[in-house]
Amino acid sequence: MSAAPAAAAAAPAGAAMEVAAAIDQGTQSTRVFLFDRAGGVVASHQVPLRQIYPKAGWCEHDPMLIWGTVEACIEGALASAREKLGQDVQVKALGITNQRETTVLWSRSTGEPLHNAIVWLDNRTSEVCARLQESLPGGKDHFRPVTGLPISTYFSAYKVQWLLENCDKVRAAVDSGDALFGTVDSWLIWQLTGGARGGVHVTDASNASRTNMLDLRTRQWHAPFVELFGLNLGVMPRVASNAEVLGHVKEGPLAGVPISGCLGDQQAALVGQRCGRGEAKNTYGTGCFMLLNTGSELVPSTHGLLTTFGYQLGPKAAPHYALEGSIAVAGLGISWLKDNLRLIDSADESEALAASVPDTGGVYFVPAFSGLLAPHWIEDARGVLLGMTGFTTRAHVVRAMLEAICFQTREVLDAMRADADMSHMAVLRVDGGAAKNDLLMQLQSDLLHVPVSRPLFQETTALGAALAAGLAVGFYPHDFVTTHPENHSTLFRPAVSLDNSEKRYAHWRKAVSRSLALAELADQ
Ligand code: ADP
Repeated sequence: MSAAPAAAAAAPAGAAMEVAAAIDQGTQSTRVFLFDRAGGVVASHQVPLRQIYPKAGWCEHDPMLIWGTVEACIEGALASAREKLGQDVQVKALGITNQRETTVLWSRSTGEPLHNAIVWLDNRTSEVCARLQESLPGGKDHFRPVTGLPISTYFSAYKVQWLLENCDKVRAAVDSGDALFGTVDSWLIWQLTGGARGGVHVTDASNASRTNMLDLRTRQWHAPFVELFGLNLGVMPRVASNAEVLGHVKEGPLAGVPISGCLGDQQAALVGQRCGRGEAKNTYGTGCFMLLNTGSELVPSTHGLLTTFGYQLGPKAAPHYALEGSIAVAGLGISWLKDNLRLIDSADESEALAASVPDTGGVYFVPAFSGLLAPHWIEDARGVLLGMTGFTTRAHVVRAMLEAICFQTREVLDAMRADADMSHMAVLRVDGGAAKNDLLMQLQSDLLHVPVSRPLFQETTALGAALAAGLAVGFYPHDFVTTHPENHSTLFRPAVSLDNSEKRYAHWRKAVSRSLALAELADQ
């Protein structure tokens, strides 16, 4: 885990320590963090999540397993806090943040999932998407004016449509009114609040904005789109703000605790980084997600970004919107080098190995494993590794993967500059599991030619969920939630000439052009 600000001094002997808890349900693991009133981490617990790959390009999670990891993490974090502090720990608020778009349908009567969750990066819906793109008058951008999103395998509605067309159990449950739809936040809140015995069916506007069924302006479901994708409003969760009491935990170690914060992981990081209007952050996890807070303004994108919901810290608070560039493969590329190619033994090793060579020796890696998301939105792209010579070693390949993360970010930043006024962006704020890699951060600053600011505590996603939850119940004051803490970051400045980074970027673009239209090859 990354360095956390020291937890505030323990409460006086005998008194209970009061904390805000955050569940961070990510793609590759689940974590629970307990934060004190100063935003310091008191304890945390992490459990990996099993990935299910039924076919190339498909990725599923078992919803019951997701729930099991959450239960285990709650127990683990509380046990660790009690052991460390030797005193009682009282959880005053619970926030939830989660992998977005991942789609769950379950039975309201039995609580059983109707199918495995279809994960955000799963691309089984490419045919559904192609069909809609051809038949709808607006083509790929048909939904953009309402939802801010292009047609892509990425978003939940297409996953729902696939399930309705391919899974009888789902179809029957939707028809009979027994089905409930949700992203992972809804699934977890429903379980936490009692499941089939009175569970609350709710989501927040940030998660809802990733389904392609939310009207961004009203922040309510757009009924014609809900119906177009084969659902009805009875199946949909209520859409709430990010900081309000959504329900109370029904049983277990957190029984009675208010669930008072809920945000999709990238929006939670925006809050955790305290990014106000005009500020941007990039999170380096499985994928990479850059969000620019555009305040109350809904900025349409004509350069391949998403217009999305940012956050609303209370039902009556002003909503913030964002422009987002989503990249599917970032840290996942490093995991792939470890697990599939076995070029490294651990993700951390990527740093020392890549640093053992001064450059990539002309190697470029486009990890378009399931197509390219922002700003391209090309489904039939596939990975390419090019520029190899007899001189190339695994160190060059690993370094090329790190650079690929940075080049993809550069493409997104260029699109943001074209879509919005970024003149106030002095630094790019970064976080996420891979952001602890110093070399990656230096390469990022070099290849963007922008300073990169990394907070000492990089689990900003969990922090954002805890801040929102704490704000709603008065555990954290508003100023604390919205103001940048001082002296809590490391700054990486560009260390190469602009000419050097532009040249390398031009080569990258050439490499991207070679990755297009390769899906047929991979499908053989
Ligand atoms: P998520 O929340 O999407 O599950 P995390 O924020 O936990 O992801 O980040 C995990 C990802 O970061 C993994 O894909 C892993 O390969 C990558 N990663 C972790 N440590 C490093 C490192 N030192 N250098 C590069 N990548 C790393």
